Amino acid sequence: MAAGLRLHLCPRLRAFAAASRPLFATSHSGAIPLPLRRAGPAMPLAARARRGLSSSTAAAPPAEDDDFATAADLRFEPPLQVVKYPDPILRARNKRVNTFDTNLRTLADEMFDVMYKTDGMGLSAPQVGVNVQLMVFNPAGVKGEGEEIVLVNPVVYKSAKRLLPFEEGCLSFPGIYANVMRPESVKIEAQDITGAKIKVKLSGLPARVFQHEFDHLLGILFFDRMTTDVLESVREELKGCSSPSLYTFMCGKGCVLNNLPPEAQTPHSAGAYGTGT
Ligand SMILES: [Zn+2]
Repeated sequence: MAAGLRLHLCPRLRAFAAASRPLFATSHSGAIPLPLRRAGPAMPLAARARRGLSSSTAAAPPAEDDDFATAADLRFEPPLQVVKYPDPILRARNKRVNTFDTNLRTLADEMFDVMYKTDGMGLSAPQVGVNVQLMVFNPAGVKGEGEEIVLVNPVVYKSAKRLLPFEEGCLSFPGIYANVMRPESVKIEAQDITGAKIKVKLSGLPARVFQHEFDHLLGILFFDRMTTDVLESVREELKGCSSPSLYTFMCGKGCVLNNLPPEAQTPHSAGAYGTGT
């Protein structure tokens, strides 16, 4: 999952993707829209969520702090490269974005390009070396199909109590796939590429992809969510890409999530998952 859900090696995911409903469906597409609650202007959500379909720039949200990403934080050089574990960029803090300009749009476009080239369904900005609160995804995982979604400064404000296992991969961990438990649905708030606010409930594959990418924005990696048994099943593969010190950190108490630093124990991660995953 992308962050990648790796389609070519995971037929189960491919079937899931094919059966999945469009995330931000439009009425003329014939698809069934998910329950949506719009907080922004009465523009079709798909048009606002997809990249490059609107040139308007919404007002920045009220600043909760003054630690927004600077122009330097948002600098990048195409072609983007996927950052691989254990690069510390994957654990670094990701700043909120309050500049919705051409540079941000180009970054999202470049992220989609590298996501498709690497067979991912989603990608977070830190995975391309840009530590900001930005993710892109398309549950279809194929350019020209499905829907391209850009989410900026996402927040999970409600998670389903029911957790489901699902086999995930990650573009930052090539070739590693394992079951991860996550809530079956989440309600989120975010901004689109223009800065307009979005509220939406995600379920099914979109919820799975979103949560994987959202974790990246918190510096949480998919093996942090694995149970002890699952983690054991990929121990050797993880050893192959991690340094001894990081692996010690990772495996300290069986459930890696419990070992995350306090700042990573957000209501999303701690509240939704408890200590059993
Ligand atoms: Zn990932």
